Amino acid sequence: MVIDSHCHLDPGYFQEGADAVIDRARAAGVEAFVVIGVGKDLAPARFAVELAARRADVHAAIGVHPHDAALADEAALAEIEALAARPEVVAVGEIGLDYHYMHSARDAQQGVFRDLIGLARRLGKPIVVHTREAAEDTLAILEREGAREVGGIIHCFSEDRAFAERALALDFDLSFSGIVTFRNARAIQEVAAWAPGDRILVETDSPYLAPIPFRGKRCEPAHLLHTARHVAALRGEPFEALAQRTAENTRRRLRIPA
Ligand SMILES: [Zn+2]
Ligand SMILES: [Zn+2]
Repeated sequence: MVIDSHCHLDPGYFQEGADAVIDRARAAGVEAFVVIGVGKDLAPARFAVELAARRADVHAAIGVHPHDAALADEAALAEIEALAARPEVVAVGEIGLDYHYMHSARDAQQGVFRDLIGLARRLGKPIVVHTREAAEDTLAILEREGAREVGGIIHCFSEDRAFAERALALDFDLSFSGIVTFRNARAIQEVAAWAPGDRILVETDSPYLAPIPFRGKRCEPAHLLHTARHVAALRGEPFEALAQRTAENTRRRLRIPA
């Protein structure tokens, strides 16, 4: 049994409904789901919290994705603060920086990132970080804003070992997505093989980044086993041990009772 530490199950992605998607994943051996509620408006955040309130195997994380930072006004941030305080919400995120697409300007991304690190610290909840082509700025902001006080997860880890070492020192765990199964992902695979066993998680980041053999198709939490098997092979560990340990790591980091 393994835990998907990061998935998006919004109705816009899965017309068949989150419960059907979760049922398929449970049949494949995924026992719990951290559902991320981020988007252009607050509908995904409300959706994630409602799903987590209704299902014991779902836990919510809500925040403002860096893509949407420019859209986050005072009212949106106030509602996020109220929702994030609820017990179903185990983390603030995903938040961070994405300089690849630049859907929001750097200033807006950095401002919202700092604001929501502050929110996580006020609430005493861990942070789920998204970073793409922004490694230095992401680490600098985490360091400067005192993110170490709450720690968290670098989701969809796609950096190198030097980044991983700094993130681990800031009390951030590393979560591996389907990217780790891609043939050209050598640097990420090296980190997955090397990272301390008590600091690694696995995720699908559905609906994106399906692992091999589903690459290019819609990703869903049932695909997590392929990613977990790949990480286990990279580390030379039995799959069952890797699955159990990453599940324990996720529960400990997000304070999810077994
Ligand atoms: Zn992300
Ligand atoms: Zn995500």
